[in-house]
Amino acid sequence: SSKERLQKVIAKSGYTSRRKAENLITEGRVKVNNKKVTELGTKVGPNDDIEVDGIPIEKEEPLYIMLYKPRGVISSVSDDKGRKVLGDLLSEEIETRLYPVGRLDYDTSGLILLTNDGEFTQKLIHPKYKINKVYVAKVKGVPTKPEISSFKKGIEHNGEYLKCVHSRILKVDKKKGKSIIELTLQEGKNRQVKRMFESLGYEVEKLKRENFGPLTLGNLNPGDYRELTPKEVKQLL
Ligand code: URA
Repeated sequence: SSKERLQKVIAKSGYTSRRKAENLITEGRVKVNNKKVTELGTKVGPNDDIEVDGIPIEKEEPLYIMLYKPRGVISSVSDDKGRKVLGDLLSEEIETRLYPVGRLDYDTSGLILLTNDGEFTQKLIHPKYKINKVYVAKVKGVPTKPEISSFKKGIEHNGEYLKCVHSRILKVDKKKGKSIIELTLQEGKNRQVKRMFESLGYEVEKLKRENFGPLTLGNLNPGDYRELTPKEVKQLL
């Protein structure tokens, strides 16, 4: 959930250290939604109003970013093997900690959202929240139309049922034995596109996410990013 411990939220606002925030709470100087709170474990969310000595703390501004993830980057903020992560692509001027909304495989490129708004993230990655995500796959081999259509009915892979809402063949190179195929998914299961092709015996050589809901990469280059407009944020919710 996006709830955090009260002392952490106070500290994060830049008001004081975590330790001092704990003291403020136990001293009875902190109010949540106009009620005094002295319990240290209290959890608060982005919509709770927090006051210290009667003055509202300033909350971190929400930030929403669209990034063109290149291949060879991990979809996380840190990696214990020292591989390149999304955070390495962001300017140091971004002071807030941003988290990816869902993930893309290490060798997948394309559109990924980053935000410090935990509620936004939880909402968008929930399975019942159906956002169209458009992927373009370069596939070894030449799948037939019926095969590609079968993705819409759904296929089983390792006991999991995988489906897409739309699929079409964009290009076929019979000589080289390669195809470019577009799939639109509403689900986001682990390695879903690759597994769907695997189940028919095809290997995905390259994968890129072109769209995320109404958002497209536009003229962003790999590794580049831009802030979403308030209108775009609204469109996603
Ligand atoms: N499907 C995959 O197989 N990989 C991704 O990164 C995204 C969707």
